[in-house]
Amino acid sequence: MIVDSHCHLNFLEFKEDLDNVIENARANGIGHMLTVNTRLSESLEVQSIAEKYANVFCSVGVHPHDSKDYNNANLIEQLTNHTNHPKVVALGETGLDFFYNNSDRDNQISCFKIHLEAGLNLDLPVIIHTRNADEDTINCLNEYPNTKGVFHCFSGSSEFAKQGLDHGLYISFSGIITFKKADELREVVKYVPLENMLVETDSPFLAPLPHRGKRNEPAFTRYVAELVAQIKGISLEEVAEVTTQNFFKLFNKAER
Ligand SMILES: [Zn+2]
Ligand SMILES: [Zn+2]
Repeated sequence: MIVDSHCHLNFLEFKEDLDNVIENARANGIGHMLTVNTRLSESLEVQSIAEKYANVFCSVGVHPHDSKDYNNANLIEQLTNHTNHPKVVALGETGLDFFYNNSDRDNQISCFKIHLEAGLNLDLPVIIHTRNADEDTINCLNEYPNTKGVFHCFSGSSEFAKQGLDHGLYISFSGIITFKKADELREVVKYVPLENMLVETDSPFLAPLPHRGKRNEPAFTRYVAELVAQIKGISLEEVAEVTTQNFFKLFNKAER
């Protein structure tokens, strides 16, 4: 079985047919999914999806795009309260996105640090979104060196992956690795040890080949795992087994 370590099942794209999406995942060998929160206003909605489906876990957090909408003064309390829910197994997604800069940089950084602090206080892993912000991401992590977590939907360089690995983080690959122009990223897949790797869809976005441009869904984690197997010259079963073990090691509040 494969785990989709990062999807957004509460998004509008799944509103009409979520039961089918979950069933299709199961039919394609996806045993578990982690549906990731991006705004506190949607936390309860995300949790209700995790309550409804036994094999779906969830997180609580504020995406760097949305950090401008939250008053950081009581954010740590709100995050902490939500983690009392038994299926909330992680904080995030949080991090820094200096490609879009939908929130100003200082605001993104302070929001990210609050998540890192909560992660240490609560002993929970942090799901990190990082784009065009390598240096600042590492600077933040250096302030919270014992952080457990993952660089999700990784699209950076091998050097940046190494910095994440040196911090003890996992690296999660998405459908981006299937894209024609992603030769460099496929080199990063080769570089990152399977023992430190997760796979994900980030659905409904970023559908892998051969579905590129269409709605993505957890079932398509399979294409990511298949390509990882091909790149590493190992079997799909091995990729599935090791990345699933990795998932439950990192998100150790999640029960199989
Ligand atoms: Zn993200
Ligand atoms: Zn995401």
